[in-house]
Amino acid sequence: GFVDYYILRPLLGQKRYTIDDFVVGDKLGEGGFGVVYRATGVADGEKYVLKQCKDYGEAEIWTNSRLQRACPNAIASYCGAAGQEEEEDPLWIVWKFEGSDTLFKLMNDKDFPYNVEPYLFKSGVAIDGEPKGSKRKAKIISTIFGQILENLSAAHATGIILRDVKPENIIFDPIKGKFKLIDLGAAADLRFGFNYQPKEFILDPRFSGPEEYIMSTQTPEPPPTPVALALSPALWQLNLPDRFDSYSAGVTLLQMCLPTLRSDNNLIAFRKKLEENGESLSQWRQELPPRWFSGADGEGFDVLDQDDRAGWELCKSLMFKTREKRSSATGARFSRFIQGRNPVVGILDS
Ligand code: ADP
Ligand code: MG
Repeated sequence: GFVDYYILRPLLGQKRYTIDDFVVGDKLGEGGFGVVYRATGVADGEKYVLKQCKDYGEAEIWTNSRLQRACPNAIASYCGAAGQEEEEDPLWIVWKFEGSDTLFKLMNDKDFPYNVEPYLFKSGVAIDGEPKGSKRKAKIISTIFGQILENLSAAHATGIILRDVKPENIIFDPIKGKFKLIDLGAAADLRFGFNYQPKEFILDPRFSGPEEYIMSTQTPEPPPTPVALALSPALWQLNLPDRFDSYSAGVTLLQMCLPTLRSDNNLIAFRKKLEENGESLSQWRQELPPRWFSGADGEGFDVLDQDDRAGWELCKSLMFKTREKRSSATGARFSRFIQGRNPVVGILDS
């Protein structure tokens, strides 16, 4: 049953919705877990987003209610679930409408990351007086990525691994100037031992680390009992399961810097190249044709190479082949790319 819907939410005194509490509007998307619509609250006139779940709404409800309590700023504001009728199982999940843009959409704009810049900094620019170029871009991208890492780090601290981190699943709230995680239906909860893994579940191979890619094709069907389910799925057998999301975050950072990697075909070709060369990002870079080092990609490499390759080193540490060497989201937050120059130097300078 729906632990959250029937037990936790009433205990917390939260309202139970029915679908009649909303006027359902345009379709926003359709993925493996359901169809997503815009909606308006009948009582308050506020904007909401509703997801009509297919079979696996339970995992998404569980993850959202856990994270909404543990780290509400890390995810799109979760409001609850709604049944078709008062006492029916919830088929709909309800969030506040956070904004019209995902990171994916923002990245597809030629002006990225300057299209986000005015929302992120009090003065409207990343660095006062700095002309557009790799230094300013690095500051903007480091700020965006710092927010993403903060969200991941908070989720991991509560024992939740998201497993579907990618630009499409990061929504931008322009009012707060914050990026937040959405689409939590593929998450696993290590603390409570929940790992809803539908049999046709396929991890997005464009964003999963090399070992996950192998794992996803070998994962046996989960055993039927909850105890066995908690003990045996592949994710728990791996060390450092949070490093799953680290890899996806690393790919996302590379895409933010290098426009060519934003297209599906080029991303797939990039992953294939890594697979062939033993997962060496350095070798991939060394073998790139010269056109990658001019124009927008060239500037992207300049972004990654600012401050003694701070961004490039971070990408490499997030995308290490072996989990043991791969940086955690929390570790990455303290990298030079996110923190900037050692603040002690700043104090000595002044
Ligand atoms: P799926 O990928 O399974 O279709 P998502 O949860 O990723 O489902 O939602 C689909 C799309 O709906 C997102 O890419 C985003 O554009 C939009 N969306 C989802 N949640 C919100 C939200 N809280 N606020 C605004 N837009 C949202
Ligand atoms: Mg999605």
